[in-house]
Amino acid sequence: MSLPDGVERHEFDGTTSVATRGHPEYGERTDGEWRRWDPHRSKLGAMLELGMDTGLSGGETTLYLGAAAGTTVSHVADFGGPTYAVEFAPRPARDLVGVAERRSNLFPLLKDARKPETYAHVVEPVDVLVQDVATRGQGRVARLNRRFLGDDGRLLAAIKARSEDVTADPESVFDEVLDDIGSEYEVLETERLSPYHDDHLGVVARPRP
Ligand code: SAM
Repeated sequence: MSLPDGVERHEFDGTTSVATRGHPEYGERTDGEWRRWDPHRSKLGAMLELGMDTGLSGGETTLYLGAAAGTTVSHVADFGGPTYAVEFAPRPARDLVGVAERRSNLFPLLKDARKPETYAHVVEPVDVLVQDVATRGQGRVARLNRRFLGDDGRLLAAIKARSEDVTADPESVFDEVLDDIGSEYEVLETERLSPYHDDHLGVVARPRP
């Protein structure tokens, strides 16, 4: 598995980890211009750390759903092209705006990812859809936002089992979500994100033509 251009494995105080170059944002370790992409704090970081084949090569245009305060999307913007970051909660979005002020290619959108029509006039077609909404209906969010992805694009999603059903067996929740997105996407790879994130499934998929 190759890492995208602009993402490298780097050593920080004896710990080797994926890293990007940019302004530090969440107390992550740094070494010169490199900042650790902490897989414990980021599901996409964990997917890369675990060697999933994300298809990322660097410079992609990205739509990121569930940006929160910008921890992961700050790394994405460090090696990516134009990066649209959707977050509907005003409080984390305030911090996200600060992260975006330090990155000319990062565009925060205070929007609901279940209502793509409210940002369709701003977001151009993208190469990558990253999703980490941790809310009920994760499959539906991925389906609704399929419209932004080009045919050769990739969906990189972190599915949180407990957001769908706190009591259900995570494996059956994952099966249901994968079934749900199956009408719009062909799933290429899945991997549990442990030990970094409990009861999360990393998903790489491509849109069906
Ligand atoms: N991706 C973030 C990171 O790695 O830095 C962490 C995301 S956190 C697990 C999930 C976020 O998704 C929360 O900030 C929540 O407000 C947001 N979210 C949940 N449902 C959403 C929706 N329908 N539209 C936009 N944001 C949503």
